[in-house]
Amino acid sequence: MSLPPEEGQLLSMLLKLMNAKKTIEIGVFTGYSLLATALALPKDGKIMAIDIDKSCYKIGLPFIQKAGVENKINFIESEAIPILDKIIQEEREEDSFDFAFVDADKLNYEEYHERLLKLVKVGGVIAYDNTLWFGTVAAPVDPSLPEMVIEIRNFLMNFNDLLAADSRIEISQVCIGDGLTICRHII
Ligand code: SAH
Ligand code: CA
Repeated sequence: MSLPPEEGQLLSMLLKLMNAKKTIEIGVFTGYSLLATALALPKDGKIMAIDIDKSCYKIGLPFIQKAGVENKINFIESEAIPILDKIIQEEREEDSFDFAFVDADKLNYEEYHERLLKLVKVGGVIAYDNTLWFGTVAAPVDPSLPEMVIEIRNFLMNFNDLLAADSRIEISQVCIGDGLTICRHII
């Protein structure tokens, strides 16, 4: 489920070009995208990393430690939505993020989007992974695919339309990995 390396490089380049310092990641798995992010941030950079299950993160953690970037990571084992709601409620200016990487349960992407627009500063970036969904969003429905894959395909087609029409952001959907939609928060 990890990003391909060239997508990790793109994320890293983006974070450095933006001078991102404070980021949030939803969906960590073994921590490959998290490690790419942690390596790209400055020494005092901070990442809030949320995953419902810590067991996979534990597999990747020794590599993060070896890279010397564990101190930048605050891992939270939880469903993402309650954590986002909690930080929105606390509403402290210093809690605003430069960058968000979203790669957890696709059916919640709309829920994440509304919340992240409150948490990511204007001028900041929200990046959604897997928005091409193996190319299925650009092809007629293939009935031989598992039902769940079709359900997520239909959801992501609608989500892609929503992002394209959302005047609060401007987007670039990049054909890298399984599709990455980069959204710049403009209002
Ligand atoms: N970003 C990682 C891959 C993440 S895979 C990488 O590229 O290296 C998706 C992860 O989302 C899984 O680890 C899964 O446990 C997590 N996830 C699924 N639903 C979630 C939810 N509701 N809240 C938080 N994490 C969730
Ligand atoms: Ca992904």
